[in-house]
Amino acid sequence: MKVLEKAPAKINLALDVLGKRADGYHEVRMIMTTVDLSDHIEIQETGGDRIRVRSSALYVPEDERNLAYKAADLIKTRFGIKQGVEIWIKKEIPVAAGLAGGSSDAAATIRALNRLWRLGLSYEEMAELAAAIGSDVAFCVRGGTALAIGRGEKIEPLPAPPPCWVILAKPPVSVSTAEIYQALTLDNLAHPDTDGMIAAIERGDYEGICSRLSNVLESVTIQKVEEVEQIKRVMARLGADGVLMSGSGPTVFGLVRHKSKAQRIYNGLRGFCGEVFMVRLLGGALI
Ligand code: ATP
Repeated sequence: MKVLEKAPAKINLALDVLGKRADGYHEVRMIMTTVDLSDHIEIQETGGDRIRVRSSALYVPEDERNLAYKAADLIKTRFGIKQGVEIWIKKEIPVAAGLAGGSSDAAATIRALNRLWRLGLSYEEMAELAAAIGSDVAFCVRGGTALAIGRGEKIEPLPAPPPCWVILAKPPVSVSTAEIYQALTLDNLAHPDTDGMIAAIERGDYEGICSRLSNVLESVTIQKVEEVEQIKRVMARLGADGVLMSGSGPTVFGLVRHKSKAQRIYNGLRGFCGEVFMVRLLGGALI
């Protein structure tokens, strides 16, 4: 038997860091939403009891460092399952880009194995397993739109924002999330208006969402990757309604209401930037 799962990317509409925790992680408060750019996971049982991961992308580890491997390993250990599996990951989401590709692959693996092995896990049980793998994995189990707090593993669902187009542009560099958090200085941060963003989402106020896009990591990444600033400028000049860097970057996204304008921005950026995508907000939860 074979199970298939879609693993969508996320963007951050707001990303705030409140402080450093005793366990070394940062205390965050962020609003995430899924977009229609997805990896595809295919899981099949094998003869032995090993986990094998293969992926269509270069530079993605296929051993126990792969987050999908970690998810399968955790489930096998937790439930004493001896059955082996082969996990095939068709990567569409750029790697180390601020779009949670690896986290979404891990979350999709949890959903897939819950079905394959009829574990009957609730969302809460899957989210608890997910949190042990990585901070963004719990959000990715259900996707949609949510406020994530703590180290990112405590999830409070939000309604879907009004539909719109999303242009994603990734400069040809990758960024380590850990490195960006290390370089962040907590004094004098310009904190996002996260409560205002939540209220705007709740009343379906597209302009209110666009005007509150904010990410405290953006200026840190710009110090290392100046293309982030350039792409932001080009997107704004071409008429995006709101522009922000996602996660620790370096992917920049622009929100656009009208398809013709989205197409114009997409075309304008393609000559300038290698990886550009024009997708829709998914907004609603996967499960
Ligand atoms: P986030 O937004 O959650 O910080 P990201 O988009 O910046 O994530 P990922 O694409 O998840 O970053 O990859 C980060 C690192 O994780 C990569 O350098 C890669 O080596 C490793 N990795 C492990 N498993 C995967 C996977 N399934 N897909 C992509 N990268 C993976």
